[in-house]
Amino acid sequence: MPAEEILISQARIESRLPELAAEINEALPEGPVHVVMILKGAIVFGVDLARALGRNTTLGFLSASSYGAGMKSKGRVEIDARHLGEVEGRNVLLIDDILDTGHTFSKTIDILRDKRPASLRTCVLMDKPERREVDIHADHVGFAIENHFVVGYGLDCDEAYRTLPDIRIYAPE
Ligand code: 5GP
Ligand code: MG
Repeated sequence: MPAEEILISQARIESRLPELAAEINEALPEGPVHVVMILKGAIVFGVDLARALGRNTTLGFLSASSYGAGMKSKGRVEIDARHLGEVEGRNVLLIDDILDTGHTFSKTIDILRDKRPASLRTCVLMDKPERREVDIHADHVGFAIENHFVVGYGLDCDEAYRTLPDIRIYAPE
């Protein structure tokens, strides 16, 4: 199996979640939060994190495709905002699975800012700072990792592995 080596265990994810939630709760204004996740990779982490916030939350979704099928970035991002929900005047938390070149996140942030939220915080499960092509960072980062292609806990390779409970290095033979 090409995805055997565990990079981040289920136990590490589970212990990091409440820490991240506390960090975010500290930074966000009081009251309801509109949690926006980038499909599909962010949904597992996004739902776990939204629940850990313990707030009155609503959910919105953006769909971004920069990878298409396979592992190589096209360097081009398409965003579908049909299920974003109401953003104007609300406190918004944007969640993605992984910050890589930064194209997806930066384009997404532009779209959200245009809709004039009351506040916007950003969070990613993982950050690969070495790979950055756009000057952008996330306000909250679960784990900084080296330059591996990873799967599990929401992340896929050609749609497989998303429901693994941990994060693994994908190594095709
Ligand atoms: P960026 O636009 O920052 O280059 O790409 C971010 C998106 O590419 C992430 O939301 C994710 O969907 C995908 N991506 C980047 N690195 C990885 C990786 O290591 N594994 C998987 N499965 N997807 C990745
Ligand atoms: Mg993604």
